[in-house]
Amino acid sequence: MTPLDTLIREMIVETGPISVETYVSLAISHPVHGYYASKMPLGESGDFITAPEISQMFGELIGLWCVAVWRTIGAPRPVLLVELGPGRGSLMADALRAARIAPDFLEGLNLHLVETSEVLAASQRAQLAASGLDPKWHRTVEALPAGPAIILANEFFDCLPVRQFVRGTGGWHERLVGLNSEGHLCFGLAPDPEPGLTAPGEPGPETGQVLEAGFVAAGLMARLAARIAAQGGVLLVIDYGYDLPARGETLQAVKRHRFADPLRDPGEADLSVHVDFGGLARAVQGAGARAHGPVPQGEWLARLGIHERAATLRRHADERQRAAIDSALLRLAGNGADPSGTNMARLFKALAVTAPGLAPPPGFEMALA
Ligand code: SAH
Repeated sequence: MTPLDTLIREMIVETGPISVETYVSLAISHPVHGYYASKMPLGESGDFITAPEISQMFGELIGLWCVAVWRTIGAPRPVLLVELGPGRGSLMADALRAARIAPDFLEGLNLHLVETSEVLAASQRAQLAASGLDPKWHRTVEALPAGPAIILANEFFDCLPVRQFVRGTGGWHERLVGLNSEGHLCFGLAPDPEPGLTAPGEPGPETGQVLEAGFVAAGLMARLAARIAAQGGVLLVIDYGYDLPARGETLQAVKRHRFADPLRDPGEADLSVHVDFGGLARAVQGAGARAHGPVPQGEWLARLGIHERAATLRRHADERQRAAIDSALLRLAGNGADPSGTNMARLFKALAVTAPGLAPPPGFEMALA
């Protein structure tokens, strides 16, 4: 039993069952006992591993992408380079190293990081100390200064909590977290259906079907897209998720590289969802900006030249390093013949947001907007 488990049970006793959204947001973001408040989630000894931790190639390609994108938006100076949820800071460190080929870009750069975890912010500070830039940290997107911004978000949107609804005969009932007869956390349903809620693909949902609604993610995306439409810049979102309207629940708990029960030991496991890319794209359009993609990660990285970059690295590597490069390439991008071959290459997707009327950024050229 964790301190957060006790706290949430007390809350439910006092005010009744809470939404899945409230539960997840407490479990991961509670300022003292939340998962991101005190844990080092990333890496072999943590709970999960992300693309920039698999290989430097990921961040390097994104760094070059930033330079190219900056030129297409008219090379504004100063320009903000922003990362949402930068983890250990590896992506940004690799990106800035690759961007050294463009000193004019680096000279006009103001680096901003949006992070709620003190542990991870410390790691980012250490990784970026050698960058020669003077990074600024913020706890929310709203705290960022105004101006054209290149904004990166890798595995950030999956952290944002969703509401869940289960189909009953008379409509969609919100799934809640309450207490069972032994006083343990359990799932239940709101007695009345949610007024005015229709799911994509209506009519005809079957009883018992689950619908996830990422209101927090869509709201944040709408604010970011409105900012880009008004002030200029580009947003790049890379995450695991789905494109077409999907039913079913994707909320998952991961602890020590294994799936766990989301209601067990809140604060100890990472809770996340698959990102609703269709919903994000609709939020972008609603805010007057343009969405490009999503493109499967493997395909996007291949278009950016990851296979060529791997070939270059291989040339200067010993046998053990070559094996590591090959396995990283396979995990991130699949193999050349079948770019959707591996889990990460297919399940992970890239989406870009620009002001309306802008050409697709690199890697999104062939994508249907
Ligand atoms: N982008 C990194 C880390 C992904 S893990 C990588 O690819 O390795 C998610 C990151 O988002 C962590 O840095 C976490 O602390 C941060 N985070 C989660 N929820 C957040 C929120 N609501 N606001 C700001 N940062 C958040």
